[in-house]
Amino acid sequence: MHSSPEVWREFFESYYQNELNRLADAIISLDGTGRSIYVDFLRDLAIFREGKLAEELLEYPEKVIEDASRGIELSFNIHDVRLENCIARFMNLPLTRRILIRDLRSEHVSKFISIEGIVRKVTEVRPKIVKAAFLCGACGNEVMVEQDDAVLKQPYECRNCQSRGRFILLPEKSEKVDSQRIRIQEYPENLRGGEQPQTIDVYLEGDLTGRINPGDRVVVNGIVKARPRAYGSKKLLHMDIHIEGNSLEILQQEYEEFEITEEDVKKILELSEDPMLYERVANSIAPIIYGYEMIKLAIALQLFGGVPKKLPDGSEIRGDIHILLVGDPGVAKSQMLRYVHRVAPRSVYTTGKGTTSAGLTATATRDEVDGRWTLEAGALVLADKGIALVDEIDKMRPEDRSALHEAMEQQTISVAKAGINAMLRSRCALLGAANPKYGRFDLFAPIVEQIDLSPTLLSRFDLIFVMTDEPDAEKDRLLATHILNTHELGEKLEMLRNLSSSEIKREKLDIEAKKIEPQIDPELLRKYIAYAKRTVFPVLTEEAKNRIIEFYVSLRDSAKDSSVTVTARQLEALVRLAEASARLRLSDRITSQDIDRVIGIFRKSLEQIALNPETGEIDIDYGLSGTSKTQRDRILTIKRIIENLEKDPQYTKGVPEEVILHSAEEKGIERAKAKEVLYKMREKGEIYSPRPNYYRIVHSY
Ligand code: ADP
Ligand code: MG
Repeated sequence: MHSSPEVWREFFESYYQNELNRLADAIISLDGTGRSIYVDFLRDLAIFREGKLAEELLEYPEKVIEDASRGIELSFNIHDVRLENCIARFMNLPLTRRILIRDLRSEHVSKFISIEGIVRKVTEVRPKIVKAAFLCGACGNEVMVEQDDAVLKQPYECRNCQSRGRFILLPEKSEKVDSQRIRIQEYPENLRGGEQPQTIDVYLEGDLTGRINPGDRVVVNGIVKARPRAYGSKKLLHMDIHIEGNSLEILQQEYEEFEITEEDVKKILELSEDPMLYERVANSIAPIIYGYEMIKLAIALQLFGGVPKKLPDGSEIRGDIHILLVGDPGVAKSQMLRYVHRVAPRSVYTTGKGTTSAGLTATATRDEVDGRWTLEAGALVLADKGIALVDEIDKMRPEDRSALHEAMEQQTISVAKAGINAMLRSRCALLGAANPKYGRFDLFAPIVEQIDLSPTLLSRFDLIFVMTDEPDAEKDRLLATHILNTHELGEKLEMLRNLSSSEIKREKLDIEAKKIEPQIDPELLRKYIAYAKRTVFPVLTEEAKNRIIEFYVSLRDSAKDSSVTVTARQLEALVRLAEASARLRLSDRITSQDIDRVIGIFRKSLEQIALNPETGEIDIDYGLSGTSKTQRDRILTIKRIIENLEKDPQYTKGVPEEVILHSAEEKGIERAKAKEVLYKMREKGEIYSPRPNYYRIVHSY
């Protein structure tokens, strides 16, 4: 062994004199922060004494860290203070020590290693006893016992009177340290489609505590510890492992998930020149799913995303595009999400009804073992800087419902509960899928009445698409072929081909067969997206700007006189989509072709969700609030009628339905429609019936 406090003293005095002085300074000024010195492993330790200490640290970290910490205490500093209770921390380990969480094995136990991942959970910071003071019940002597396990160790006997009797813990006289437990999870981008991420717990003490939030991406350097699993009061031979953290590196920069080589860049640039680029990218998203070209194109744009903007007042406009897919069961919504999960870099897949997960935003719970409050990151936090795929989003937990507004728009999640006060980041795009409340989707009823999501939440989505399943013989045949084909049932396809009467149909089937090939290699597509997001930041050309304004004005005009309808939200959505469209071909300039593409997608979405069947016009109000402009006008008229009639002394106990219907008719509202409105108003609590067929206004003071 080369390591000893003396050798470490030499190391610190020759390499870390400034740090020693800073530490002494902090101790004099009673600054409680950071009694530790961070040693750069690769830069300094690896070259000291031919790297002998470095090797020993990796093999025997427990002893070496203890030696190094004592070494600090022995070192000279200009203030000549005693550097008590200091800790040596080591960072910047070689990548060969970087172990994947799923690769942790018994050979790593007691060794110094480094892991990297995303913080999933943190407990609140609480004191922990490191040296317990006991009072001997027999003679009143004080006994100190070092603690190195999870459970409190009692004295064996009193050193003074040799009594083995009763000992009383003296918490205030015991030595304590701040402690916190965090759970690190593998990066979502390192998982192959469908794999469950693995996690490991890290124990932190002293100045390492209270520094990180769920969702942070960190490197943890520390010692792998194993402890027998408890089974009631017995201990098993099987062990659980955790990491005793020695140092933490919080990754501030956007994590460069994969290296993009020069070779890759060449391929990326080549692909960007493809005349069929948009179709190819869209088809590559879920080649196995037949149809839905517009939806796939929209999702393609979502993967590239718009450019986030900072306003002069400090607020931010998100660049991430949120999309919601709604529709009948069995129309491949879930399948679509799973495919996007496969191709999108940094994607997190979850389902709204998942009961064991931390939900979509964040959860604060009490730990079942030690009773500490724990803050756990939900899907949108884990997907920070990526995309969250949320199936059955309509079944999300009530807590998520309220937190989701902030998470989608401000892209933060604030938690204030018990000892936890945190603001987590959720800078991700959201692709959600929802089923209709009543089994099947009705294209002629407003969307808000059919899915269990509030209008305010719905308005956070840039695009909402309806996926419907309507029988259509020709389409069904192609779909069936497509599915059988992808299931590699070549023979059956052949059969279908022979059954097809016409030459044209046969040709179509052949074209279908070719479509199944993923158009772009998923690996390349992932790199392409990452490259575009990193390097391309499109701006509007003058021409494009005018086109957008023109479209926006026409949209607003078509919804004139209505109270909410088209808002700046839709304008922002248009810009985001246009930015994504330019980014997809790696262009810094948004052209009017981009605007045309985006308007096409936008219209498709609007037609599906906001077509008012009464007028045949697009009415976002109708789609998102369930009340059309005409309906709202009727409601207002009838409200006025009742208000006026109420003033009549003979109607103080309620206005008869017949009288209302009659007045409404005079104002041009059919009796049936007026009746409908009355029932709707009563349902919404705007009027009530003091007795059957009499109505009064509900006044809210
Ligand atoms: P949902 O989530 O909408 O209820 P799923 O994604 O579970 O539906 O789809 C049900 C099954 O039907 C899946 O196996 C899916 O592959 C298949 N399917 C439905 N529509 C299509 C389509 N257009 N192309 C390919 N497969 C489809
Ligand atoms: Mg489903």
